[in-house]
Amino acid sequence: MILQCNVDLRACTTLALPGRAAHYTKITNAAQLADADLAEGPRFILGGGSNLVLSGNVDRLVLHMAIPGKRLAKEDAEAFYIEAGAGENWHDFVQWTLIHGWPGLENLSLIPGTVGAAPIQNIGAYGLEVSERLHTVTAWDFERQAFVKLSRDNCRFAYRDSLFKQEGWHLSGRMAITSVLFRLPKAWQPNLRYADVAQELAARKVTEPSAQDIAAAIIAIRQRKLPDPAVIPNAGSFFHNPVVDAARADILAKTHPTLPRYPQADGRVKLAAGWLIEQAGWKGKALGPVGMYEKQALVLINRGGATGLDVRNTMQAVQAAVRDKFAVELTPEPIFL
Ligand SMILES: Cc1cc2nc3c(=O)[nH]c(=O)nc-3n(C[C@H](O)[C@H](O)[C@H](O)COP(=O)(O)OP(=O)(O)OC[C@H]3O[C@@H](n4cnc5c(N)ncnc54)[C@H](O)[C@@H]3O)c2cc1C
Repeated sequence: MILQCNVDLRACTTLALPGRAAHYTKITNAAQLADADLAEGPRFILGGGSNLVLSGNVDRLVLHMAIPGKRLAKEDAEAFYIEAGAGENWHDFVQWTLIHGWPGLENLSLIPGTVGAAPIQNIGAYGLEVSERLHTVTAWDFERQAFVKLSRDNCRFAYRDSLFKQEGWHLSGRMAITSVLFRLPKAWQPNLRYADVAQELAARKVTEPSAQDIAAAIIAIRQRKLPDPAVIPNAGSFFHNPVVDAARADILAKTHPTLPRYPQADGRVKLAAGWLIEQAGWKGKALGPVGMYEKQALVLINRGGATGLDVRNTMQAVQAAVRDKFAVELTPEPIFL
């Protein structure tokens, strides 16, 4: 294994912020994780860097997960079981399952990043969360110095949340996910819960959509709405959609009648962070080199030459504006390193 020093991480993250890793190595094989050199000291597990804010230099060992591999692991009467290495590109993996006739992940098309990071925040989009299709996570546990297998229930998935975040392992680098096994039921049904998707399919005159039709529609919608990180550096949605008590949502709706409200199973109400940010005047607005994207207020963008501090300044200004107008607290979605 080759350990490198003082490695530039800017190109390893989609926000393109400056920062160097004191030590860095690429993990291309799960067995490398058992190396004694990796057992000690602070570390950080890096995937595609698409949910990350670099605050500056990283005084840790960065393990860049690049474990390849994808295969049909087994099949029974009810489902296909597909396994992929942590370093596989998520979007390419989803398209590969569709080409092979294993539908079920199409609503998560074009989400950047790696397969190994998908369980960390339980990625979700267009009415589907990855936890709904996940069977088992395999990870190297640095504390126990052993591989562990976590079932879907063990992972304690919730909205943009999992055991890995609840235990702080995503920050401490205790667990390195090496592969993920997905269960894709053969009884496939199109998931058209999101009006945008149904509208896009109608515009394409598709009445009985296949999984690939849905993927194509979602890719088109995302390309219209979201900036391509290769052109405009960003980390996707920058804030979680806040969830408030029903009573609080009712009060807000009295003063803001067009407030979008999404009732949750537990009786609380999810609000749209993008709408709150837009109403607070931040859509297309910037503070120095960091602003909120003009086509989608929820996406924070690096307009060129930004640092981690610039990101924090804009983030705090947006949070303050939303707090002043709605008395609602926005929490950031990306990990700050
Ligand atoms: C344009 C854009 C659109 C996006 N859209 C969505 C969306 O629709 N839905 C959504 O949920 N997210 C979205 N995101 C966020 C991001 O794509 C996901 O969070 C993705 O899963 C991050 O993957 P990554 O490999 O880049 O992880 P990184 O950013 O590298 O890491 C994220 C976290 O995961 C940990 N981690 C990474 N790999 C591993 C591993 N193998 N083992 C253990 N820990 C690991 C890291 O330590 C870190 O804490 C978007 C981002 C962008 C830039």
